[in-house]
Amino acid sequence: MKFGGTSMAGTERIRRVANIVRKQAALKPDGTRDEVAVVVSAMAGETDRLVNFCREANALYDPAEYDVVVASGEQVTSGLLALTLQSLGCKARSWLGWQLPVHTIEAHAKARIEDIDSEALLESLGRGEIAVIPGFQGLSGDGRITTLGRGGSDTSAVAVAAAIGADRCDIYTDVDGVYTTDPRIVAKARKLKAVTYEEMLELASVGAKVLQTRSVGLAMKEGVRVQVLSSFVDDNATPADALPGTMIVSEEEMNELVEKGEMERQHVTGIAHDKNEAKIILTRVPDRPGAVANIFEPLAKASINVDMIIQNVGRDKGETDVTFTVPQADLARAQALLEDQRGNIGFNRIITDSKIAKISVVGVGMKSHAGVASNMFRALAERGINIQAITTSEIKVSVLIDEDETELAVRVLHTAYGLDAKDEAA
Ligand code: ADP
Ligand code: ASP
Ligand code: MG
Repeated sequence: MKFGGTSMAGTERIRRVANIVRKQAALKPDGTRDEVAVVVSAMAGETDRLVNFCREANALYDPAEYDVVVASGEQVTSGLLALTLQSLGCKARSWLGWQLPVHTIEAHAKARIEDIDSEALLESLGRGEIAVIPGFQGLSGDGRITTLGRGGSDTSAVAVAAAIGADRCDIYTDVDGVYTTDPRIVAKARKLKAVTYEEMLELASVGAKVLQTRSVGLAMKEGVRVQVLSSFVDDNATPADALPGTMIVSEEEMNELVEKGEMERQHVTGIAHDKNEAKIILTRVPDRPGAVANIFEPLAKASINVDMIIQNVGRDKGETDVTFTVPQADLARAQALLEDQRGNIGFNRIITDSKIAKISVVGVGMKSHAGVASNMFRALAERGINIQAITTSEIKVSVLIDEDETELAVRVLHTAYGLDAKDEAA
């Protein structure tokens, strides 16, 4: 079971979480009992607060010390949940990342889990103790605290589930499942009973932050059954075993659900948006072999991820404009690097814009159905929304637009692909 920041925000909410955990771990009518490991996030807002402290202390902070600071949020909530469970009469203890340990690579602030020692954990579970594990944190090979990148507790939960061979990994959050789009933006978003790993991976990577992208990739690789559901339920709510949330399933399972009439087959499953990218245009780059490599090599060396790329041909005199996007947080660094390489690349001007948004439509159905992209372009055009760049994958089409038009674009596309919830009253 994993509980996110909103679910853990304050002792009152932690008590509600403890109640959900207690019920899951309780003796069942048939005399059996589930063994339960719980992964928790820091209280909502806490990690942001800690990140700010680091910035104030030293703008060029050492990522290893940053990890020492930001990992503390989860240490607090794991101890508090163990205490609250004990107050409800449950046997519970916390297991910090360095105690298990959760082994990660040394890349501070964006570490990847390599392996989790599960022996002591399994013994403890076998003794009937509920294990409470802080998400987001681990231990590097050289014995220092690491963190997994923002939203990383989802990945901790899936990794723990894989390590102990759990039957299921229930991700409890502040919405009751995965929706056709962010339900905080589109009131008519519909909850999906199931979504495939592949679609969820794509949705997460293009901005649906309900699950961290890496957690979905790991679940897919390790075959972990993941369910997304709400922790904001009253004491008499249906237990998680009765599937009230969204199940992440394989394509075969999805086909079975469609055949049984439990899911509708759609060409587009969901729509996501991402306002965290920035656009860079380099004008009048020489149109010759190696020119594009000269642009992207220095960015790659600096670990700056480039997402969308367009090279406009057709300028006179063997010149071309190159447009691409980078994470907003890396824009200043990317710009400085490119300026530095101006002589080598040979461009005329750098134009940047961080007031952009990427809107993506995702669905496995588009593998076998033509016209999804053209419907998207038509629907946006009819509302006067201009497209600045386009990328596609087998199951996704993304466009770059003006940030101010984000909500409108998501709503228009949600309607255009027939995803709006039917009006209950109608
Ligand atoms: P937690 O703190 O539990 O990890 P997050 O804030 O990271 O929670 O993720 C939950 C949020 O994800 C929701 O509040 C919702 O606004 C957002 N979200 C974005 N896209 C979707 C989607 N397609 N379905 C459900 N929630 C979504
Ligand atoms: N507390 C961390 C964050 O806010 C990890 C998480 O909540 O998943 O990013
Ligand atoms: Mg999250």
